[in-house]
Amino acid sequence: MTYSPERPLRVGIVGAGPSGLFAADALIKQDLPVSIDLFDRLPTPFGLVRYGVAPDHQKIKSVTKLYQRTLDDPRVRFFGHVSYGQDLTLDELRRFYDAIFYTVGAPSDRPLGIPGEALSGSLSATEFVAWYNGHPDFADLSPDLSVKSVAVIGVGNVAVDVTRILAKTAAELRTTDIADHAVAALQESQVEDIYMLGRRGPAQGKFTTKELRELGELANADIVVDPADLELDVLSEASLADDRVVAKNVEVLRDFSGRAQTGKPRRVHIKFLSSPIEVLGESKVEGLRIQKNELRDREGQLEAVPTDETEVLPVGLVLRSVGYKGVALPEVPFNPKRGVIPNTEGRVTESVGGPVVPGEYVAGWIKRGPTGVIGTNKADAAESVRSLLADAPKLGRVADADRDPARIEQYLSEKGVHFVPFDHWLELDALELEAGQAQGRPRVKLTRVEEMLRRTRVLTK
Ligand code: NAP
Repeated sequence: MTYSPERPLRVGIVGAGPSGLFAADALIKQDLPVSIDLFDRLPTPFGLVRYGVAPDHQKIKSVTKLYQRTLDDPRVRFFGHVSYGQDLTLDELRRFYDAIFYTVGAPSDRPLGIPGEALSGSLSATEFVAWYNGHPDFADLSPDLSVKSVAVIGVGNVAVDVTRILAKTAAELRTTDIADHAVAALQESQVEDIYMLGRRGPAQGKFTTKELRELGELANADIVVDPADLELDVLSEASLADDRVVAKNVEVLRDFSGRAQTGKPRRVHIKFLSSPIEVLGESKVEGLRIQKNELRDREGQLEAVPTDETEVLPVGLVLRSVGYKGVALPEVPFNPKRGVIPNTEGRVTESVGGPVVPGEYVAGWIKRGPTGVIGTNKADAAESVRSLLADAPKLGRVADADRDPARIEQYLSEKGVHFVPFDHWLELDALELEAGQAQGRPRVKLTRVEEMLRRTRVLTK
């Protein structure tokens, strides 16, 4: 199959988050004529940049300017509010597109598997993050912030984000694009102590140094680290020489541990070698039992081994921040163990190491798992796009009658799917920016799908 501007390669991308947009961008930056449609189940593009990146990290969110430019390209179209599997099935995608990209991220979370985890007041950081970022599915989460103490399980960057948002003042947060419902709830917050818990030692923290350092610069919270937690075993000590990030992290933690408390209204405690073993309470969280660990070398990896020592933290809210998890898409191969779509260099395979599913590709967290920063998805998507371009001569399955890009719009409209096109997203964007400007904030987010649709006229079409 050869492609031309009259008969471009038609690509349908499921998921308009960072990896979908990086894939679209890589496709328009090469020579083959392409025509790309990006679908998202929400009326808004940008996925985790809008709903995951912390509201007080606006610099990271500025990548949306690049995404907006990609969406502005005449070869790229956005179809918001279109759910894969319901509004658009795999058969329909195969009918209208020569190639399909799955870039749906990892929207779920990993459970801890300990007693009491299902109690009211035990939430995943995934939910909490989506709530404060105004994700429509979590607008009604209402976490109980009348409690005095909170445990955040895990020492990755998401745990740091959640801890920082809990520790900041409403006045600080009000300058960001945090959801209005979240800033109102955080304003009334009674939280005084936030415990961030690492099951291994300080040299195994997953946070990056810049993010860790921010925890020591909070206007409203003192940082508390027990120097005893920073005594390193031989292997951890040795890792400082090999890994600059680890060495810097430990240096920052040592600085934290030497600080005196200054009487700020809140305290952020970072505790290491501590595993949660039971969430305590009758109907809601009243405490968290943690077990002290030691580190043991297992084939070069230091793993946490429990000791007999336990302790109860008197917390009323537990936020587990132990990693995101991918969710299976109907009819698409899935590796439940890793929470990813099995693939070889971005080509979807029927099973792990199995035959390739022709014309289907994957990028981002649903390809490699929930690791890396937003920018990591650029190289990841580029690899998958290279695979697609190498396969392109063998693709070209769309029948003549369905090739016109107008056909899918017509088809969806006939099916009664009220999609949000790009110019309607631009209207929403302008509304949010304008509301933000009036309050000296980057934007004020709309957090209800119905309202977004009403404001963009989609429901009145
Ligand atoms: P992560 O970096 O993988 O951290 C997960 C944490 O959970 C680790 O400390 C891990 O400890 C711990 N954990 C896992 N299972 C546990 C268990 N059963 N009990 C106790 N602890 C457990 O994941 P993340 O924080 O969700 O972040 C996801 C990705 O997004 C990361 O690449 C992160 O850097 C990125 N991100 C970046 C930013 C930023 O750049 N500002 C912000 C947010 C997220 P072990 O190491 O012992 O497994």
